[in-house]
Amino acid sequence: MRSVCRVVAFVPDDLPGSRLLGRHRATCLTCQAADARRRVLLRELAELRDELLVTPAAVHLRVMARLGSQEGAGTPSRRIARLFRGAIAAGAIGAAAVLGGLARRRARAAG
Ligand SMILES: [Zn+2]
Repeated sequence: MRSVCRVVAFVPDDLPGSRLLGRHRATCLTCQAADARRRVLLRELAELRDELLVTPAAVHLRVMARLGSQEGAGTPSRRIARLFRGAIAAGAIGAAAVLGGLARRRARAAG
């Protein structure tokens, strides 16, 4: 898998400035195959939407113990959303750096 394909797989479609990645995705068979696999997985997960899994009490207690005190930190879902947004932002910065490096490398190779 090429480096740009790894970046494309990491960056969400709707991220501002991802038009360049979208153009790559439209022409790259590797990325198109990965998108197809992702769509199948999402469809299968959507079918499980109404499934109710009961967490064993011991697992629940271990998870809550690792999360620590939740006072003043918002709900767990907000904390997870905040962590996720931070990861997306870091990924976008990394993707921009990689794409910038690739563009400079191509410009040097072209002359
Ligand atoms: Zn690709």
